[in-house]
Amino acid sequence: MKRLKGIQVANGYAVGKAAIVSRPRLQISRKQIGPDEIEQELQRFQDSLDKVKAELNLLIDDYAHSRDNRDILTTHKLILEDPEFIANITTLIRKELLSLEQALHQHFTEVIDLFRNMENSYYAEKSSDFEDVAYRLLSYLTNQGRDYLSGLSEGAIVITENVTPSGVARFFGRGVKGIVAASGSRNSHSAIIARSMNLPFVARVANVLETVSPGDELILDGYRGEIILDPDEATRSEYRKLLVRETEYHEKLLSLRDKPAVTSDGHQIRLMSNIELPLEVEQVLANKSEGIGLFRTEFLFLEREELPDENEQYEIYKKIAEQMYPEPVIIRTIDVGGDKLSRILNIEHELNPNLGCRGIRISLGHIPIFKNQIRAILRAGVRENVKIMFPMIASCAEIIQVKRIVRECVQELRDKSINCAENIKLGAMVEIPSAAINSFALARECDFLSIGTNDLIQYTLAVDRDNQSVEKYYIPHHPAVLKLIRMSAENAHKNGIKLAVCGEMASQSLYVPLLIGLGVDELSVSPGLLLEIKELIRSISYTACRELADKALELVCHDSVLEFLKKKD
Ligand code: PEP
Ligand code: MG
Repeated sequence: MKRLKGIQVANGYAVGKAAIVSRPRLQISRKQIGPDEIEQELQRFQDSLDKVKAELNLLIDDYAHSRDNRDILTTHKLILEDPEFIANITTLIRKELLSLEQALHQHFTEVIDLFRNMENSYYAEKSSDFEDVAYRLLSYLTNQGRDYLSGLSEGAIVITENVTPSGVARFFGRGVKGIVAASGSRNSHSAIIARSMNLPFVARVANVLETVSPGDELILDGYRGEIILDPDEATRSEYRKLLVRETEYHEKLLSLRDKPAVTSDGHQIRLMSNIELPLEVEQVLANKSEGIGLFRTEFLFLEREELPDENEQYEIYKKIAEQMYPEPVIIRTIDVGGDKLSRILNIEHELNPNLGCRGIRISLGHIPIFKNQIRAILRAGVRENVKIMFPMIASCAEIIQVKRIVRECVQELRDKSINCAENIKLGAMVEIPSAAINSFALARECDFLSIGTNDLIQYTLAVDRDNQSVEKYYIPHHPAVLKLIRMSAENAHKNGIKLAVCGEMASQSLYVPLLIGLGVDELSVSPGLLLEIKELIRSISYTACRELADKALELVCHDSVLEFLKKKD
């Protein structure tokens, strides 16, 4: 028996046999051709292009619901249609008498090396697109490694180097029980999707591909972020019990789907879900969430050669609004650092991207792009269940400016006789201390406020949320953070509006009673954790939450707050 440690990405236990998922190496046997074979080889080239493009078209249709995957596959088709690529392969066959397979191998090896060695990480990552295309063409031509996932049996635990968001969805579709990866992170899109699908996932397990063999007995402990190879009988029996308990617990949770998120003394909390990708709506609906409290729209804007237009965005927002109707959908306008969009928007490299051109600052600096998004949301909101939320608001002036832009967008649509939500509700994210401190004035300008604790903690405590070396300084229960939340709640209520929390704190059981006690009215959580949080809310009393929060606010030091919260847990 051997324990291999990784990082916890998605909770859950899995017991099963390991399935190693990696692409097999393809063997290219014939290197040279004779002059009389040139035409035949060129015809094979054309046939293979047609065949692989047809395959990609089918996949693009299969992924109609996932923009990310469709975009990736469309990029792959463009690589196959690139005139330079076609000319180069033709020359290698005609002039150097290389076999088609050898010509493709030589061409792609050079291109992949070129991209891999680029300093800009965006371009370096692009090398994997060329690897994908080369693999597709060569596996078709050599008839090797056609579907390396076909051997994946239901109930297997996948061991892989890395996993893409579409990979998580494919593994889920094949009934795998869990994922173990040699690399990856907690905050990746793949991680978020695994959590929303309740698929246990442990990442960054060093040397896992060298240590585990296909068919090995494995236990995956997603709570601890570790796997156990060849478990002994005592460990197996321990995990069998844990699995039974977990299954029973999930079944019990399902019975809560139709029940309200109300405390034992009758205080109602609206419990909503955060989504990153449209495909997560299914899970949101399955758990009967009371709406989408945060739809991060960044996925539409990243990894693209050009920005999505108004219509493309409208179709996506409209579909989600219809799926969720009559529950509310809060669409957040783009919130990416300028560094991520710099290629498309021509933004200079920034030394401190988190303090630079981020969120609303990008939108206000690129009004036509911002207006496209606003108009798309306004059009999708005709049935009145859509709201707009603005990220990274630091001052009231920004909200006033944004409201004027929304009014202009309404007028533009009216002028074209296009239906839209003329009185759409607008809200600001409170994630910069200035917004919390100034929340009375902000609340007066808004229909709702939502605290992004992930950033509020980062900016209040001056600690980079993604920097592992300062992890210990990232303290959600810091008295300063708690005071800002209480202040925002009081100011929202004085102005007759609701205060939500959509940051990770809302998905963490330890903090939920505290947030409720601080005066938070709505929580927006990871879809996979919604029922767990609902169960917790139904088990606590509002009076006790208030007492807990009041007491926590009196403590001067975050250590004592934590100790106190744990004692009450
Ligand atoms: C937050 O900051 O808490 C938040 C919800 O926004 P994001 O995590 O997308 O920055
Ligand atoms: Mg944020």
